[in-house]
Amino acid sequence: MKPVVALVGRPNVGKSTLFNRITRARNALVDDFPGVTRDRHYADAVWNDVGFTVVDTGGFLLADDDSFAVEIREHVELAIIEADIIVFVLDGRTGISPFDRDLADRLRRSLKPVFYIVNKIENKRQEHDILEFYHLGIEKFYPVSAEHGLGMASFLDDLVNGFPESEPESDRENSDEICIAVAGRPNVGKSSLINRLFGEKRVVVSEKPGTTRDSIDLVVEHNGTRFRLIDTAGIRRKGKVKEKIEKFSILKSLKSLDNCDVALILIDADDGITDQDITIAGYAHDRGCGALFLLNKWDLLSSEKKDQKEYIKELKIKAKFLSYAPALTISALTGLRTHKILNMVESIYEEFSYRINTGLLNRIIGDAIFRSEPSLHKGKRLRFYYATQVSVRPPTIVCFVNYPEAVHFSYKRYLVNQIREMAELGKTPIRLYFRERTGKIDFSSRAVTKGWYVEKKEKKTVKRKKERKEQSRRKRFRDNKSIDKGKI
Ligand code: GDP
Ligand code: GDP
Repeated sequence: MKPVVALVGRPNVGKSTLFNRITRARNALVDDFPGVTRDRHYADAVWNDVGFTVVDTGGFLLADDDSFAVEIREHVELAIIEADIIVFVLDGRTGISPFDRDLADRLRRSLKPVFYIVNKIENKRQEHDILEFYHLGIEKFYPVSAEHGLGMASFLDDLVNGFPESEPESDRENSDEICIAVAGRPNVGKSSLINRLFGEKRVVVSEKPGTTRDSIDLVVEHNGTRFRLIDTAGIRRKGKVKEKIEKFSILKSLKSLDNCDVALILIDADDGITDQDITIAGYAHDRGCGALFLLNKWDLLSSEKKDQKEYIKELKIKAKFLSYAPALTISALTGLRTHKILNMVESIYEEFSYRINTGLLNRIIGDAIFRSEPSLHKGKRLRFYYATQVSVRPPTIVCFVNYPEAVHFSYKRYLVNQIREMAELGKTPIRLYFRERTGKIDFSSRAVTKGWYVEKKEKKTVKRKKERKEQSRRKRFRDNKSIDKGKI
């Protein structure tokens, strides 16, 4: 699991600016849908090739709440429980407030690693002024300007160096289990569903060896397949956190998506589809796991509201980016259609682990380009050379082209949809990356339908060229010899 870094501090110190600064460098290729607005209080970041998740706790404050102090204290308590590293953001312009002293005090008593940032430092004079921050009793702080990106590199270097040793990843390539995570807003019925699927006698409660704190996995067998429900502790530990900040507490269940094959995204059908449900779905999309929507509490809907098709249509529009996720209407309470869930998970998993034959893949892409050519890039034609699937879970494909940056996201989406349709992979995410290659093999343009034959032909040509070169070398050698002979 990636380390979680929580940003805490008073309002207006610059947490959200810092959050954006740290997470901005995200791989834009992952985001296929730039128009999707998401409630981004947690996002992934990468520094020096180390990945981590950043949480802006300020984003969880209620906008109309003036008495922020109590809430921030709660956030800090929660950050101490949930995060691996805490970043305390201070304002270099306003200086220390009594509230800052309070928080610093609390953080010092926690056993968590804490980084202190003094923000809004944009010149030398200000750097001098911030010496007062040593009064907080801290050993080191980082003067930065989140707005202008100053001082960020040295802070991020130290931050990623300070990450705890990561837990060894289980050998997923060879695992014969399907890992499931359950995600959803508070009270949508996660615990009830877990009891329904994994409850009673079938459950083997197993403490994951080597894991920190209190994560508990449940394992169940169904039709000869083992299903592991990961990190249920976060779901079960509810009640300890106040309603107000439960939004933040879903972080834990979201984190379990990092390690799962298939996410069950629970929605309270009685409440309707809310923005927060879509945010959670967005997180599953970012993670690249398989996903199954479960519209729970179907038993509560009156008969006139019970239009499954309409409901699912609405969901598909709102969570367009997860078009590959099937949906079921269920009731965790009565057991309505819950027996279908594990079968469905299994069929998603099959596609999620699927390897497409390279020849077929290249024919699919060749055909797709033939049918609809990409537009010109600065007057030049985009050439596609070769595609290969580099990994599974999810199927991840790399396509070599002459200008990777020129592939428009809509064209990428078109190619993904073609692969999805032609390889019959309708239920899994597919990752498609473009890499630069300046080769001679081109399966776009006129030769397109024969794509991979062109490649073979090219290989032969190269071979023939080599042979000819070798022959002429031999001939020259013979000629030289004869000249030599002539001399004698
Ligand atoms: P949050 O409430 O802690 O999330 O703070 P915001 O990120 O919303 O920032 C509050 C205000 O401080 C905004 O007007 C920002 O433009 C400003 N701000 C944030 N970082 C900097 C900085 O590095 N320098 C300056 N001068 N202003 C900043
Ligand atoms: P969690 O917070 O997501 O784990 O939600 P819980 O499983 O604790 O469920 C919250 C409340 O919803 C409880 O009172 C459950 O009994 C109720 N609930 C859960 N699933 C269903 C369902 O399918 N139908 C009905 N009517 N109530 C449900």
